[in-house]
Amino acid sequence: MSRAARRGAVSVNWGLGCCAWISIFLLGAGVFGGATQQERRAAGERGKTTVEAAISSADLDALGGQECEIVLATGKRISETTLLRIVRGKDKQTVRTVVYRKGDSKTTRKYRPNALKRLVVAGKAYDVTADLALRAFVLVDAAEKRRLVETRLKASGKKLWKPLSSEETVEIVKEQKAFLQTVAKAFPSLRMRLYETRFFLFFSDMPADQVGLYRTELDSMNVELGKAFGVPAGENIWRGKAVFVVFVEQAAFLRFEQQFMQRDPAEFRSTQGVCHQSSTGNVVVACYRGQDPTYLAQVLVHETTHGYLHRFMSSARVPSWLNEGIAEWVSAMVVTRSRVPQIRQRKAIDRLKQTSLIGPGFFGSRIEGWHYGVASRITDSLIKANPDAFRWWVVSIKEGVDWTEGLRLAYGYSPAGLIQAYGRSVGVPQIRMQ
Ligand SMILES: [Zn+2]
Repeated sequence: MSRAARRGAVSVNWGLGCCAWISIFLLGAGVFGGATQQERRAAGERGKTTVEAAISSADLDALGGQECEIVLATGKRISETTLLRIVRGKDKQTVRTVVYRKGDSKTTRKYRPNALKRLVVAGKAYDVTADLALRAFVLVDAAEKRRLVETRLKASGKKLWKPLSSEETVEIVKEQKAFLQTVAKAFPSLRMRLYETRFFLFFSDMPADQVGLYRTELDSMNVELGKAFGVPAGENIWRGKAVFVVFVEQAAFLRFEQQFMQRDPAEFRSTQGVCHQSSTGNVVVACYRGQDPTYLAQVLVHETTHGYLHRFMSSARVPSWLNEGIAEWVSAMVVTRSRVPQIRQRKAIDRLKQTSLIGPGFFGSRIEGWHYGVASRITDSLIKANPDAFRWWVVSIKEGVDWTEGLRLAYGYSPAGLIQAYGRSVGVPQIRMQ
């Protein structure tokens, strides 16, 4: 790989805040622990950061003596401070300590960079960002970083989602409700009712007493995904709200798909739910309850996770296997009464013990049904080994970095190496891709 490619890839922003730096390198000792620190270090040029849009040591020094607003990793802001100086680390572009003074106070105070999210110095924003290779923090010019990410995303036809004002959200929710009214008109014999929460419009003909539990589980899903990806609690990532159309009967679900989503019902004969993700950012999850309310809960949380990943940061696609893996991970965590993800993991292992064959489609654009168990087990292991590296990796994908490159930097694996590590962890040491 060229140096340019490597530099581009290392340069991922640590992401929306949460810099639990200490744990970045406390990798698990298991097979999913990932690369050694020496290997990480070797990936970067010694002493020089490869983080995208990181400012130079001279620029770091020049920030001293200016008015500053400090944004802590917790989200708290400290304004009207003077940034006295930045004490640099072993590698000269890195930050060891930020020394400041509050207001007219004579007292000098300081912060370690892991407590910080952002500095706004003389009106210009700098994100405090981890450098995986140097094992230190650097300051990233936020505007420059955004330009680079936008350019990279644009080259593959993707974009950062535009933040929506509360007025815009109100307008979009009105449109979404109008859409649901047209759905109600198309199903006059069903008693469709709207249940509205802070982030969701849940439209269903199920009895009201059955809807409550699903709502609670969807709320927990939103919280868990927010924690996993560093989205502050209470932030609405949806365009308007996430829309759910949930029928009791399969026939109504199939007709809805045909009439409102222009989909061939034959596609969905053996599917209980689907997540429609529009290029506008709109997300509609459609399902039917059938005879198994627990399975519906699993499907709802799984499908909504796809919508969440569509709306997180940008329209860049998370690869199919990882998208399914994350959806299964969240549903296992939230819908604890369903054992579906665990059963799928077990079945995949049983199959691999017979065949040792995964098939090249696993890293393709749409994985096979039995692959869910493999994807979900790998995702669980990666999150467990290092949740911070996992967040860093998903953020990098959303910033337009190739997922294989991010995987190498975050965990030290190639895709093939990841499969082998998975194989070893489940007692199938020689897995073949084809
Ligand atoms: Zn899925």
